[in-house]
Amino acid sequence: MNPFINLGIRHDIVNAITELGFENPTPIQEQSIPVLLTGSNDFVGLAQTGTGKTAAFGLPLLELLDFEENFPQALVLCPTRELCLQITNDIKNYSKKMSNVHVVAVYGGASISDQLRQIKRGVQIVVATPGRMLDIINRNAIDFSRVKYVVLDEADEMLNMGFQEDIDNILSTTPDEKKTWLFSATMPAEVRRIAKKYMTDPYELTMGTKNTGNANIEHEYYVVRARDKYAAFKRIVDFNPDIFGIVFCRTKIETQDIAEALIKDGYNADSLHGDLSQQQRDKVMKRYRERSLQLLIATDVAARGIDVNDVTHVINYSLPDEIENYTHRSGRTARAGKTGVSISIINAKELGKIRQIERVIGKKFAKVDIPTGFDVCEKQLFSIVHKIHNVQVNEQQIEQYLPRIMEEFKDMSKEDFIKRFASIEFNIFLDYYKNAPDLNAPVEEGRRFERDGDRSSYPRSGGKSEYTRLFINLGSVDEFNRGDLLGYICNQSKISGRSVGKIDVKGVYSFFEVPHADVDKVTAGFNGAEFKGRPVRIEIAGEGVSERRDGGYQRREGGYRGDRTGGERRDGFRNNRGGAERDGSGGGFRDFSGKRREEHGERRRRF
Ligand code: AMP
Repeated sequence: MNPFINLGIRHDIVNAITELGFENPTPIQEQSIPVLLTGSNDFVGLAQTGTGKTAAFGLPLLELLDFEENFPQALVLCPTRELCLQITNDIKNYSKKMSNVHVVAVYGGASISDQLRQIKRGVQIVVATPGRMLDIINRNAIDFSRVKYVVLDEADEMLNMGFQEDIDNILSTTPDEKKTWLFSATMPAEVRRIAKKYMTDPYELTMGTKNTGNANIEHEYYVVRARDKYAAFKRIVDFNPDIFGIVFCRTKIETQDIAEALIKDGYNADSLHGDLSQQQRDKVMKRYRERSLQLLIATDVAARGIDVNDVTHVINYSLPDEIENYTHRSGRTARAGKTGVSISIINAKELGKIRQIERVIGKKFAKVDIPTGFDVCEKQLFSIVHKIHNVQVNEQQIEQYLPRIMEEFKDMSKEDFIKRFASIEFNIFLDYYKNAPDLNAPVEEGRRFERDGDRSSYPRSGGKSEYTRLFINLGSVDEFNRGDLLGYICNQSKISGRSVGKIDVKGVYSFFEVPHADVDKVTAGFNGAEFKGRPVRIEIAGEGVSERRDGGYQRREGGYRGDRTGGERRDGFRNNRGGAERDGSGGGFRDFSGKRREEHGERRRRF
C-alpha cells in the first residue's frame, strides 16, 4: 500500500500521485501533511524548493476543500510565473482522478481576459503571482470572502521581489478566520515579520537547520586569479563532461557576455535574464528543459522559480550579493532526492564571504583545485570511452555501410581500432590542454582575510582610514534608524558615540565604522547578544555585498575577452549545432567533424 494512505490521503489522489511516481512521502510531506490535514493550524514550513513542498500543501488542500462548490476557497501566492504554472500543473495532476476540481493560474505577462474567463466559470483554487492577482482584485473580478486557506509559497522570494505591499493588499480581501500556510527556503527577518503579522501561533516545521541548504548538495569553491576566471570556469566544465548546469552571474551584462563567450567557444549555452522578452525566456527554458542546452547562464532574478530536475551543477560564476541568494541558487540542484554540486569560483579576497555562507547554511565548503589539463584529458577520454560503449546503434541505418567500413578497417587489430577511435576526441583535448597553466591562485587564508587575521589589510569601504567597517545583522526591518543603531551599538559595546564613524542602515543588515582599536571591544560587547530572541552577528565587512553595490561592479574581471575568437568559430559551432542538439548529451566536444577540430585548433592557440 502506498504510504500516503497512512498520512490520510484518499485513494483517488493516491492513485494519481502513484502514477506520478510518488511512492514514498518526502520528509516534508511526511511531517506537514498530517498537520495541515487538520485544517486548524497556521503553518510555517522552512523548506527548499525541490523537497516536495508543492504536494506537502497541495494534497491537504485537495482533501480539505469542498469541490461541490465553485467559489475560491484556497489562494496560493508565489513569486514567479514559472512557479505559478508549475504549482497549478502539479495540483491538476494530483487531482486528475477527482471530479469538478478547478484550479486557475493567475500571472502577469499573459492574457488577463483568459484568466478572468476561467475565474468567472468557477474555481476553487487560485494560484497567483501577487501583481496580477491584485490587478484582478482591483477589477472586482474575484471574491475572496470565503477563502479558507492561503498559501504563501517561497515567501522569502516574494519579499525579495518587493511584493510585501501587494501581499498585504491581497490578504486584506480574505477573511480573518482563514488559515495561512507559509513556505520559505530561508528565514530572514522580513519573513519572520510577515509570519508574525499574518499568523497566530503557527505550527513551525524546519527541514534541517534554519537556512540550511539541501543535505544532498556538496558545496565546493575554487580560488583563481580574476584574470583566469573564465578559463578556470571552462576547465571545470570540461572536467565534468556530463554537466547539466545553471551558471549564476551577478548582472545581465555579465550573463550575456559569458553566454556569448561560451557559445563562441563551442558550448551548448544560452542566457536567461531580465532583458529578454517572456517569449525569449520561454524559448531558452524550453531548450534547457529538453537538454538542448547544457549550460544555462542566468541572473538571480531570472532564475527564480526554475524547476528543472536533474541539474547536476550550480556554478556561482560570481558570488551573489545577498547570502540568502546562495541558498536559492544552490537549491536549483539536488532536487527530488538527487545529489548535486554547488561550485563557487572566487578570488582570494572573497574567502571571507565563503566563510559567511558556511555559517548561514551550516555546512562546510570543500576547497577544490582547478583540474590540470591532464586531469581534464583523462576525464574526457573515459567519458568518450563510456559513450562509445553505451551508444545506441541504429542497426538499420548503419547496416548498408558496414561492408565498406569493414573493408577500411580490415588490416587493423581490435586494439588499434579502439585506440584510434577514442583518440579522435582525446587528441583534441591533448592539443588544447598541452602546456595548460596551473590556474589555482595562492591562498593565504587566515592571514589576510580571516576575521581574526591581519585586520589592517582588510579591504575597507572608504571613509576615514583609521576606521574598520563592521557588518551587523540588524537593519531597518528591525526598526532601526541610524540614531537607534548608534545608541544600540554604544550601549552594547560601551564605546563612545563620538568614536563611531559612518553608519549605513540597510534592510536586514547594516554597516558601521569604528576605530581599528575599538573593533575587539565592539565584537566582545556583542558576544552572545540577542535582539528579540535572535543572535546578533557582528563581522568585519569584507569585499562583500554592499562594497560591490556601492562601489560599482567591474565587469569582465574574468578576462574572458582575451579568450574569445572571431566569428569563424561561431559559424563552425552553428554548423555543428543540429547534431549536438539531437545528441543531447555530453559537452561541447562531442562532434567528430573536421569543422569541429578546427574549432579546437583555435582553442589550442589561446593557451
Ligand atoms: P517541489 O519541491 O514541490 O518543487 O518538488 C520537487 C520535485 O519532486 C517535483 O518534480 C515533484 O514532482 C517531485 N516529488 C515531490 N514529491 C515526491 C514524492 N513523494 N516522490 C517522488 N517525487 C516527488
